[in-house]
Amino acid sequence: MPTAKRKRELDLTVFPPASITEYSTLVCLACTFDIFTTQLGLAPRTAYSEIKKYSPTVNELTASTATPPFFDSDEKHPHCPYCQAAKRWHARFDTTRIQGDKSTDAARRKLLKSLPQKDNQFQVIETKSDKRAIFFDWLETLGHNLDIDDEHWLLETTQAYLSRFEPKTNWAEVFDGVRVVRRSRRLTEAWKREGTRLFLSPVVYSEALIVQYLVSRSHVHGGRTLEGRLTLQELIRRLRYGGYFEAKEISSGDQFESLEQLIETLSGGSGKLKLYYIVDRRDFLDKVKSVYSRY
Ligand SMILES: [Zn+2]
Repeated sequence: MPTAKRKRELDLTVFPPASITEYSTLVCLACTFDIFTTQLGLAPRTAYSEIKKYSPTVNELTASTATPPFFDSDEKHPHCPYCQAAKRWHARFDTTRIQGDKSTDAARRKLLKSLPQKDNQFQVIETKSDKRAIFFDWLETLGHNLDIDDEHWLLETTQAYLSRFEPKTNWAEVFDGVRVVRRSRRLTEAWKREGTRLFLSPVVYSEALIVQYLVSRSHVHGGRTLEGRLTLQELIRRLRYGGYFEAKEISSGDQFESLEQLIETLSGGSGKLKLYYIVDRRDFLDKVKSVYSRY
């Protein structure tokens, strides 16, 4: 059934890009109706009103591997991997995660107020997390959305890291036309653009390397960085010579202790943070209705 294309996306332009993570997952309504009617023995009408109320958990909405009746697919006309149901049986949940802090609080309140309230079209889930967990989440998302074999990858990861390091700068603009990223020992500021080159101070450059290493280490042997392919030992040696350990007062230890301390430094330690998940249930509500009407 063709659905009218409406302007449905949330306007997130006022948020620092690093404070936002977007997730999308599909749920199979054929599987869902089956659970409620066959397994739980409900009449279709009761099943319908129960399913409408259904609120997925954060884990169901954001897991990197979906569990039934959820599934992920990039195909244009996917089939449910569990029951083979076609596209008209699928509903999409789009979830936006906003990291709560001073830079996002006012904008978040304004956004939440602007959402339609009727029929629980949107649901907001608040959770707490720590900085380390958020950092790993961020790395994972970064790894998912980037093509490591693409030459552009090094620029994209550098830009993603800088968006986290200095959220207020418009990095898309700074990176527009940049072809190479270099370390500069002469810089007094964190970064400087000159023509098609972007210069980074030694500390900032080192952190871009660490992020690149961490994102790519599970994909390639060692990690892929601005300095080429590096094993953990090579990365640590470069950081040490580059003065990073000294600048951040990281004590020496074996390479795994050093890695731990690098992660601690980059993630910002063990502080707690609030997370707000905005769940867009509109497609789900529409599809549940249309599926039920055909039941
Ligand atoms: Zn299914």
